[in-house]
Amino acid sequence: MPFIPCLKHEGSYILYIKVNQDKAEFICEECCLQLQELNLNLNIQELIHIKTAYKSPQLLLTHKDYSSYIKQSLNEYDKFNENCIRGIFKDINTQISKIQNAFQIVQEELEYYTKQFLNMKQKFKDELTKLIKFEQFKQIIENLENLGDSISSKVMEENEKILYQYLQDLKNMDHKELHIQLLDKMKLLRIEFKDLYQEQYPQFSKLQDELKSFNISYQGFIKQIKFIKFEQFNFNFSGTQLLQEWFQYKILNTIVSKNKKIITNIEKIYLSNQDGLNAQAFWNKINYRSNLLMIFKSKSGYIFGAFSPCQWISGGGSYVQDNKLSSFIFSQTQDQIYPIKDAQKGNAIYCNQSYGPIFGGGHDLYFQPDFQNGSSSLGHSYSCDQYQISNRNTHLFGQSNPNIAECEIFMLTFS
Ligand SMILES: [Zn+2]
Repeated sequence: MPFIPCLKHEGSYILYIKVNQDKAEFICEECCLQLQELNLNLNIQELIHIKTAYKSPQLLLTHKDYSSYIKQSLNEYDKFNENCIRGIFKDINTQISKIQNAFQIVQEELEYYTKQFLNMKQKFKDELTKLIKFEQFKQIIENLENLGDSISSKVMEENEKILYQYLQDLKNMDHKELHIQLLDKMKLLRIEFKDLYQEQYPQFSKLQDELKSFNISYQGFIKQIKFIKFEQFNFNFSGTQLLQEWFQYKILNTIVSKNKKIITNIEKIYLSNQDGLNAQAFWNKINYRSNLLMIFKSKSGYIFGAFSPCQWISGGGSYVQDNKLSSFIFSQTQDQIYPIKDAQKGNAIYCNQSYGPIFGGGHDLYFQPDFQNGSSSLGHSYSCDQYQISNRNTHLFGQSNPNIAECEIFMLTFS
């Protein structure tokens, strides 16, 4: 980015571009101060900061109908610069090596405890061996074994007697005493080897915590990946058969600039061709939902619709207020958008399960449950004075009744 000297102020360099109705000017900081002193209503926000525009070409776009959607999307993308992405990878790598180490330590821990366990088991066995004089039993078997082929029936009988005596002694032992002694031994052993149960594998618990925190940042990572996959531009708005692409952008642009939020998802929730074109089918699909974009085609081929952030709740009939003032009706056929009037924000939509969708207090857009009968009093709650309209009642439909042939409804999600 080169330094351009200001010709009016020596030693000062150009910072901004000031765009007026009939000209563009390069100005420096001194120029700004001068303009402010002259009280020329200089709005810093309206200046184009050259260094920023150099990196973000979208700042030069000014056409209100189309640019703010693209601008906001690109501004979001600009947040994901190289540094930011490098940072994400660094975090993930740190966590991966932490987890690798943790697995290693858990393996060592497991080996250690396994050894301890086997040792304890052996000592316990040794104790039992002592208590039941197991050596005597072993001695009998070994004696016989050592005799080999020279074994005689006399020797066999003698040993059987000894074995019987041994088993009798064992049977006559005080079993309660034996039991108590074994339990005592068990207690001592557990203290000696530390209680495995109480210790609960401390490194393993640590690993579980590591995995948990990895899972959280992994979710964030997935979000970033989704973002980098250009899902912003790919939210499947191709799902509409009625809106043409140039008008989709105009509609989305209007919604984004009114809501000051990025659209992250567009979900098709109702298609009259599949779901049926009547009030019951309509309410089944849209009840309790908000941020709905409705698109209609009348039998004469007129395409129009409406967007409102308000929640549709079926009931006996009540208006819903749009405090965001972001509801609007539109006509693709006329290439027009009719925003809700400030004073009419309390009448944005009207919910009544005995009717189809209703917009405005007039009603500006009103459908009987069959979507064939109804009316339009455009201009009551939604403003249309900015256009020259010869007949406000037929302007949207192409005739005085809606006579709807097709309806599509999409639910929008914002960031
Ligand atoms: Zn200057």
